Amino acid sequence: MNKIRHLTILGSTGSIGESTLDVVSRHPDRFKVIALTANNNTEKMLVQCRQFRPRFAVMLDADQADRLAQAINQNDLDTTVLSGVESLEKVASMPDVDVVMAAIVGAAGIRPTFAAAQAGKLVLLANKETLVMAGRIFMDMVRHHGAKLLPIDSEHNAIHQSLPYDFDGNLPGKGIRRILLTASGGPFRNASLDSLAHVTPEQACAHPNWDMGRKISVDSATMMNKGLEVIEAHWLFNAASENIQVVIHPQSVIHSMVEYIDGSVLAQLGNPDMRTPIAHAMGYPERIESGVYSLNMFEVAHLDFEKPDFERFPCLRLAYRALEMGDNMPAVLNAANEIAVESFLAGKMPFTAIPAMIEHVMTTSEQEAMYSLDDVLKVDNAAREAARDWLSTFRQTA
Ligand code: NAD
Ligand code: MG
Repeated sequence: MNKIRHLTILGSTGSIGESTLDVVSRHPDRFKVIALTANNNTEKMLVQCRQFRPRFAVMLDADQADRLAQAINQNDLDTTVLSGVESLEKVASMPDVDVVMAAIVGAAGIRPTFAAAQAGKLVLLANKETLVMAGRIFMDMVRHHGAKLLPIDSEHNAIHQSLPYDFDGNLPGKGIRRILLTASGGPFRNASLDSLAHVTPEQACAHPNWDMGRKISVDSATMMNKGLEVIEAHWLFNAASENIQVVIHPQSVIHSMVEYIDGSVLAQLGNPDMRTPIAHAMGYPERIESGVYSLNMFEVAHLDFEKPDFERFPCLRLAYRALEMGDNMPAVLNAANEIAVESFLAGKMPFTAIPAMIEHVMTTSEQEAMYSLDDVLKVDNAAREAARDWLSTFRQTA
């Protein structure tokens, strides 16, 4: 008989959060939801509370928390409603929680994800921004507090599955030459470069293979998502940037590969559905049903590969540069990217201004070492301000 895993889902109303609950609902004997959290979608949160009966529901926003609390009362549910970042940290670190799914989008996820690591939880990491912003500090925290980390990002989950079972952070020691990180290339892989200045948020969010939140969808269109994932792979697997090769693979069937010194290349394949990596991490080391259909090789028929083009995807080049520079630069890159994506989605600047804004903020920010989460949050704030300044000048001159 398995011990029931007690679960907090940070960002339960999002794309990863909903896929996680879908997997949970298939295994009532394995998982019990202790806490759910969301930014401001009280309607969806209420539906989730009625189905999963968590002990806590956290809304970031206090007014939304009040609304939810009323609805919870009317529905006669036994869920306590909380609000604010401190409550996110609380439900990520409570003693009776074993597993924390970190699926808040963006820098907003960093504090509760840190809280989970500090409390020694099993952290299922979807929030790649935590590793991009604070890779060294976060990995030290995980080790120091005996937390465990399993990657949810499909590529990193695939790499994890293709690494030796006893991988200890030493790639050469295990006979590994490099990591091949696959990327779909997004919706604009073949668009003419001239047309990119005119793409709309709707076009940028229409991913050919994956159904995801809006921020990561834009990141996929610029390939910043792959850039963030290169940095994520660096920290998760202790891989030097020159040993991480991005491979464009438009079918999104191979989720990534590991190449060994004897020439073997191990890959993990499957339909592009996040329930596979989620179920892999949730059941680990056992395999559990995820609801994902069998991969139909005859329908897939072809697997194509291309080299990434840094001229088409300058964000990928900027991410490699940030990783190679080190220190605060990946945090600067991440903050500028968040403001750039938000500004593009709000119709305040064109798609092609995204890399321009990020490059400006990176070149005008001082390089400096960071030693604590506070240092990281300061760097994040300053880079956001620099990005907003760039935007106002850009809008005055445009
Ligand atoms: P999403 O936008 O669909 O959902 C985000 C969740 O975070 C929501 O529940 C929202 O309420 C919550 N949230 C947003 N802002 C918040 C704030 N300020 N404070 C507290 N909560 C907040 O995003 P998503 O696509 O599910 O992505 C979540 C994370 O997973 C991201 O870091 C993304 O990079 C990563 N990821 C997603 C996918 C995918 O397929 N969607 C794949 C790999 C990795
Ligand atoms: Mg990914």
